[in-house]
Amino acid sequence: MLEIKELHKSYPIGDSSLHVLKGINLSVKEGEMVAIMGSSGSGKSTLLNIIGMLDEADSGSYVLDGIPIKNLTEKKAALYRNRFLGFIFQSFNLINYKNALENVALPLYYQGVKRKERQEQAMFYLEKVGLADWSHHLPKELSGGQNQRVAIARALAANPKLLLADEPTGALDTHTSYDLMAFIQELNDEGKTILMVTHEEDIANMCKRIVRLRDGIIMEDKLVELDSRITCLI
Ligand code: ADP
Ligand code: MG
Repeated sequence: MLEIKELHKSYPIGDSSLHVLKGINLSVKEGEMVAIMGSSGSGKSTLLNIIGMLDEADSGSYVLDGIPIKNLTEKKAALYRNRFLGFIFQSFNLINYKNALENVALPLYYQGVKRKERQEQAMFYLEKVGLADWSHHLPKELSGGQNQRVAIARALAANPKLLLADEPTGALDTHTSYDLMAFIQELNDEGKTILMVTHEEDIANMCKRIVRLRDGIIMEDKLVELDSRITCLI
């Protein structure tokens, strides 16, 4: 699914630069559910953004689904992003003047899907996340957990091969977080490949593999033992 070798990334600060990723090697296979952990500022989001083609590495290689991701035009990058990737963020990133259905339908609009089919598909995914009855509600009329489900439905609508999540439970209380993770585990059980950033141990232990970043390198990469894996049941 994805193969990263010797990836480096620095950010310029004034005359010097901040070396954030110092040779990352990571490969993820189809069907995995991986947590990327590390303290604040360790480069988790930087890595996820490079994987999500929202940012580019300075050196190293990144191959996604057999395609080398390097020097792509904006257009090509957008095409691959739409085709391969779904994103979930801590802050949901929904459009506040569009209702749940319209938010979920938006990526389909960008894919050129016709209106009626857009609406049907968006409704299908809203049903999947358990929000069929809330389709005409605006984000401000929904709870945090519901909004994150809308965001997941939006990410799923384009049927991505890989779901990327940056602290998806960061803005939710414990109960709502576990509920959401149960749903994400279900998606993974259905075969969706998932890569999520978190700094919460319990959330990471709901994944199947934990990758720990420190000082710009991966200091640990281990499978979560079956008997220590937290399974949430809805
Ligand atoms: P994490 O997600 O693990 O908290 P980040 O990847 O967001 O860490 O950031 C890693 C480091 O890079 C931090 O020190 C952060 O301040 C810095 N950084 C992140 N993005 C930028 C940017 N666009 N410009 C300059 N520095 C940045
Ligand atoms: Mg971050």
